[in-house]
Amino acid sequence: MIKYNLICRHEHEFEAWFSSSSDYDTQREKRLVQCPYCNSAKVEKAIMAPNVSTSRKKDKIASKQLESQKKAMAMMNAAASKVRKEIEEKCDYVGDKFADEARAIHYGEKSERAIYGEATASEAAELHDEGVGIAPLPDILAPKPSKKIN
Ligand SMILES: [Zn+2]
Repeated sequence: MIKYNLICRHEHEFEAWFSSSSDYDTQREKRLVQCPYCNSAKVEKAIMAPNVSTSRKKDKIASKQLESQKKAMAMMNAAASKVRKEIEEKCDYVGDKFADEARAIHYGEKSERAIYGEATASEAAELHDEGVGIAPLPDILAPKPSKKIN
C-alpha cells in the first residue's frame, strides 16, 4: 500500500491509498481518483516532501536568533552584575531587618545610609504607606550577600 497526498484542480488536498504507484496511474487515467470535496477527477500528487534547503535556511536563522539572544543576555548579565556590585559596595545589607532599618533611618533614629535587604510584601506596603522611600530591587540586580545577617 502506498499513500499519496493529492490535490485537485480546485486545490483541495486529500489523502488516498493505492496498492502501488502504477495502480494510482491506472486509476487516475480511468478517472477513478476523485476529489472527495468536489468529485473532480483532475488530481495531481501534491508536493509534500520537505524542502531541505529551506529547512537549512530556517536552522541558520534560528541559530542566528539564538546567538543574538545569547549576546543580549550576556550584555544584560554584565550590566546587572555591575549594578549588583555598585549596590553591594555602596549599600549596607540588612537582611530581613530591612523594614526596621528603613523605618529607623526614615524617622531619624539612625543616620542616613543606603541599605538593601529583604522585606515581605506587607512590610513593603506598610513602609510605602508611612512614606518611607523604598524601591523594589529586581532579583537580577540584587547582590547575593555571602553572609546572612540575623
Ligand atoms: Zn476538489
